[in-house]
Amino acid sequence: MAGLALTPTMMSATPIFNDKDISGKEKLALKNVRLETGFEYEEGEIIATKTDLFYIEIENGKITKISPNQPNAKAIDAKGFLMLPAFKDMHIHLDKTFYGDKWQAVRKRTGGVKGMIALEQKMMPELLKNSTFKAEKMIELLHSKGTSFARSHVNIEPTSQLHSLKNVQKALDNKKKTFGAELVAFPQHGVFYTDSVPYLKEAAKMDIDFIGGVDPFTIDGAIEKTIDFTVQLALDNKKGIDIHLHESGDSGLKTVEYLIEKVNENPSLKGKTYLSHCFVLGKLDKTKQEEIAEKLGHAEIGIVSTIPFGSLIMPIPTLYKYNVKVLTGNDSIVDHWNTFGTGSVLQKANLMAQLYGQSTEFLLSRSLRLATGNVLPLDDKGNQQWPKVGDNADLAFLNASCSAEAVSRISNVESLIHQGSVVF
Ligand SMILES: [Zn+2]
Repeated sequence: MAGLALTPTMMSATPIFNDKDISGKEKLALKNVRLETGFEYEEGEIIATKTDLFYIEIENGKITKISPNQPNAKAIDAKGFLMLPAFKDMHIHLDKTFYGDKWQAVRKRTGGVKGMIALEQKMMPELLKNSTFKAEKMIELLHSKGTSFARSHVNIEPTSQLHSLKNVQKALDNKKKTFGAELVAFPQHGVFYTDSVPYLKEAAKMDIDFIGGVDPFTIDGAIEKTIDFTVQLALDNKKGIDIHLHESGDSGLKTVEYLIEKVNENPSLKGKTYLSHCFVLGKLDKTKQEEIAEKLGHAEIGIVSTIPFGSLIMPIPTLYKYNVKVLTGNDSIVDHWNTFGTGSVLQKANLMAQLYGQSTEFLLSRSLRLATGNVLPLDDKGNQQWPKVGDNADLAFLNASCSAEAVSRISNVESLIHQGSVVF
């Protein structure tokens, strides 16, 4: 592939791909690709994952052939690395970051969320100066961790107007061969607290996928008014919804319940409405947690969690029990909110497995879905369900013997393919 550049951080001791192998090729053939084929049982318990080596062909961004390994074929040698679905970071802010620029720690917070809004009003013009460059650097970090798709929130408010969006779109355009994204128009400074309405309406007509939001009660002083506006804007423009909800008390619960009500009234929003963080779920008693999880499941509202730990543990297993779609993301990599983002969603799956005691072969293998946006190579019975001919060639190659090991050890990502294009 012309223009393929191996950066020092991405360079592995034994790269699968090099310029010679792939220059100018629309079609890729790979041998010695490790795929999971089933579970191994002992007295009814899953004790290991079976794998085998395969020969794979990729053309026009799709997997076109999966066959028994052909060790002597003239093909790129995948060296027995485990092929998994490329990872997805489903909550990140590509538009505002210090990454790729000077290190800065988080400053002492004063005045709560409104204090942070005042800080952002000061900072955003500065951050926007080179935000396209930094977004590209962040995409390269995500690449190195096996991620080739993200859902990015982008600030839409009177300070940034549409510049944050336009700068990120430029970065995504520059990286379009190796990275995909969906965008959330995010009124970080409130829909009404600062008048973001005209900008949101303009953004909704542009190339974005979701209408965002943040803590309607704390910031706008109203739950219904803000949610009603958000829902209407999404319906009018056929977009999804993804709202940041940090409020953990009564207002948090009321917001969740009101959104469920609105989505049930407007079924076209089912399956494309999300609550990010939704910390209140971690504060409810067990009975209420189950009740809300069941309602979220019925309304097909997903939860995007960064898997917090410490004083707040999210009821992720309960959400899974009621078929709530759970996604994860890094949120911050290094910015004025938080500086601890590693860029890895596999690390989030690892953290979830640790927090919920998911340490057996079976449960570790299930935890991988958090990193892949819910795709797993094996179903719960051990039947192979991914990859299939015709699937998108979004592929990560890991130095691991199976998914369970990859999650437990946060195994190194050796190579990445996005839509059939070699990233590294
Ligand atoms: Zn966020």
